[in-house]
Amino acid sequence: MNDLDSLIVKVQNHNSDADFSLIRKAYEFAMIAHAGQKRYSGEPVIIHPLAVANILADYHLGSVSIAAGLLHDVVEDSNVSLSELEREFGREIAGLVEGVTKISQIKLRGSSDEEFVENLRKMLLAMAKDLRVILVKLADRLHNMQTLQYLPLEKQFKNAKETLEVYGPLAERLGMGEIKGQLEDLAFPYVFPQDYQWVINYSKPHYRKAEEFLKKSTRVIYKELAKEGIRAKITSRPKHLYSLWQKLLRPEINRDISRVYDLVAMRILVETVRDCYAALGIIHSHWKPVPNQGISDFIAQPKPNGYRSLHTKVFSLDERILEIQIRTFEMHEEAENGIAAHWFYANEKNKSKVNQSRRDEGFFVPGNKLAWVKQLVSWQKEVVGSQEFMEALKFDALAHRIFVFSPKGDVYDLPQGATPVDFAYAIHSSLGNETQAAIINGKMVALDYKLRSGDLVKIINKEGGRPSEKWLRFVVTQQARRHIARHCSARV
Ligand code: MN
Repeated sequence: MNDLDSLIVKVQNHNSDADFSLIRKAYEFAMIAHAGQKRYSGEPVIIHPLAVANILADYHLGSVSIAAGLLHDVVEDSNVSLSELEREFGREIAGLVEGVTKISQIKLRGSSDEEFVENLRKMLLAMAKDLRVILVKLADRLHNMQTLQYLPLEKQFKNAKETLEVYGPLAERLGMGEIKGQLEDLAFPYVFPQDYQWVINYSKPHYRKAEEFLKKSTRVIYKELAKEGIRAKITSRPKHLYSLWQKLLRPEINRDISRVYDLVAMRILVETVRDCYAALGIIHSHWKPVPNQGISDFIAQPKPNGYRSLHTKVFSLDERILEIQIRTFEMHEEAENGIAAHWFYANEKNKSKVNQSRRDEGFFVPGNKLAWVKQLVSWQKEVVGSQEFMEALKFDALAHRIFVFSPKGDVYDLPQGATPVDFAYAIHSSLGNETQAAIINGKMVALDYKLRSGDLVKIINKEGGRPSEKWLRFVVTQQARRHIARHCSARV
């Protein structure tokens, strides 16, 4: 079976009425666009978009996202233009590819933490119009991290660091625990090589013991659940190395692995929420919960990123402490794949109610979940605590702001209707004053052009240039208005 066929089979397994001809067409298009190009590993470039598409298929995303994954590098890395892509594949797919291309241009690490968080926030907001852009970007980063060993040393470090600082947290906020763990573990050895070695050596025997112990405990629990007629699937999850290291550094753990109870946690998957609580009761009547360590009910009160599960710690065999997580199969899918899972369940459950294109849209969130909006809000609360932002969201003011990029990749947010002149003044008053012309997404435009979210704006200035009074007819920001008026009145 060739690469394309195995991708198609994978998609088929979850979604038999996916648009397979679209996937084929995207694959062939990417194949031609990247023909002759080689990766650092010496392999043909096409293996990369293909790997990205496979990751997206693993998330059970739809054919549009998978096609976008196949095409995500053609604009940046080959001579295909966006308009050509749009002609071939339509606005939706071209828009996704455009979004992914733009994220790569954003300078995520500013000079200060504040700037960084701010850029990150704006990036999210700009992209939140279609979250699939971020899913494609995360899949892209995952495959690049999996093949990081082929890159030059300084790039290895830089990309790995960015992964730990940006993409890991981003995946976490989107509730995508599995990809977060993978990204961090891939980056760990490049950023902290010595600590990585230490954790590996120190934890290895403990992991092995914990797994044996878990096997024994699993048999006991299967039996107890079966007695009460609860059908369950019990799995285990070895803690990701990077997250183990983070935990070991906590003062209360103080590098003592015997205090880490979830080195290998037990996961009990059941059919319904009712079964979750029933299973918890059965376990507690068999093994006593550890006092004060708390039972966490993230079903009644989900974590800000949408995570739902029951957690408990019990004294199990030989009085050993065991951490158990209980959740439904659906919650499990969500905990692993977060936002991506919402599309999956939307597809599965609402087959009759929602048509395919609507389901495949980035906007679509099943039922009244709107999980990612809640996530954005809670994240925002956590990292910036900006009252203003909360108000903005509340009044749907997001619709009245646009986010544009400088050629260096900095993000600027401006009111709707803003023009290149407003943008220039937002960067610096002298740049505003000296504005001569503007280039948007590579094309020269008039100075009263209305900027749109995602535009890449370049200002052409002339040293010693002065603002024109005419600009007052179209600028919308107070900042621009003030500077222009001051100059013009000074001239009179
Ligand atoms: Mn890529």
